[in-house]
Amino acid sequence: MAATHSTRMLILGSGPAGLTAAIYGARAGLAPIVVQGIQPGGQLTITTDVENYPGFADVIQGPWLMEQMQKQAEHVGARMEWDHIVEVDLSSRPFRMLGDSGTVYLGDTLVIATGAQAKWLNLPSEERMKGKGVSACATCDGFFYRGKKVIVIGGGNTAVEEALYMTNHSHDVTLIHRRDSLRAEKILQERLFAHANIKVMWNREVAEFVGGGEPEGLVAVDLRDTVTGEIQRLDTEGAFIAIGHSPATELFKGQLELDKDGYIPVEPGTSRTSIPGVFACGDVMDKHYRQAVTAAGTGCMAALDAEKFLAEADFEAKPVRSLQEA
Ligand code: FAD
Ligand code: NAP
Repeated sequence: MAATHSTRMLILGSGPAGLTAAIYGARAGLAPIVVQGIQPGGQLTITTDVENYPGFADVIQGPWLMEQMQKQAEHVGARMEWDHIVEVDLSSRPFRMLGDSGTVYLGDTLVIATGAQAKWLNLPSEERMKGKGVSACATCDGFFYRGKKVIVIGGGNTAVEEALYMTNHSHDVTLIHRRDSLRAEKILQERLFAHANIKVMWNREVAEFVGGGEPEGLVAVDLRDTVTGEIQRLDTEGAFIAIGHSPATELFKGQLELDKDGYIPVEPGTSRTSIPGVFACGDVMDKHYRQAVTAAGTGCMAALDAEKFLAEADFEAKPVRSLQEA
């Protein structure tokens, strides 16, 4: 028969947000259970050098950092479950989750830290060149392209911000967009167009990423004119795909308030969602910053908010007589 696990604090996701929530929750004596999902350790396990997580003078590796966070969470009393949640019921407390393994998880509170995934163009050459010149995070990887010619693909706020950000590292940044107008906010567009080191190529999409050298790295992209179909080669050593992110919130549709992009809105300055007792942290509620350190920070907030929620719920549940006797 399938097992049932109950906890005061159930955490979905084992990236920086979920594991930080676990550290705080465990230290508050809530014996949290972390359901790790199909990517234990989260997005940082698919990258190499991490240079902007505070506390390390030397360059550290993403998978190593996540291993340390997990060990720290376990050391203070959090329990890891290698399972992936496939069904949730948030209609009453305790909240009920069903894992892919058949295990049922009951949580007096729920911390959602399921993250978000960058959207990719889904070209075979893109897959091959990931980490060799093709990236979906300029803030994370831009530093490695100092003095190099780079392109940014997309026409929204993220693409424009990433292009502007890349001018900190490169004097030759080209924004590639599939239409002839951007959907980014006007103020960002004005900054982009005014920047001497940024060019825009309109009506272009990437047909192929071209590798070369030993070890192989990106050397060019073949661009297709979306109006004429003509193919043109552009030399570049770095390509940043900025065509949006998908938050992992499919599970919660129809049960929890989501915004138009599928992110979980929280009350400003807190991690509280539309359902009391359900908290969200990390990339799943943050479309602006999307950094390990901000995910960890909001993970801490979620655990503290959950702890406060439980303390208040326990207080309200106490019969008046026992309060008077106390
Ligand atoms: P994630 O790390 O996305 O973790 C989500 C977790 O949720 C995973 O464990 C997953 O298994 C779990 N999950 C999802 N669905 C379910 C489910 N149904 N049931 C149970 N679990 C589930 N940031 C930096 O600050 N510095 C960097 O150098 C940096 N480099 C990066 C390089 C790359 C290639 C990428 C992709 C991102 C990088 N980032 C970097 C961004 C950073 O990784 C994210 O901001 C951060 O990981 C977000 O943390 P999170 O905990 O919110 O979510
Ligand atoms: P977005 O607004 O959805 O824009 C995605 C861009 O990528 C669009 O220009 C789109 O082109 C293009 N695109 C999508 N799929 C593509 C494909 N397969 N090939 C080529 N191009 C493709 O995504 P975002 O820029 O990441 O922003 C997401 C949300 O976060 C938005 O609500 C945004 O306002 C918000 N955000 C805000 C800020 C800020 O306020 N400073 C910063 C970042 C993000 P089309 O235009 O042709 O559709």
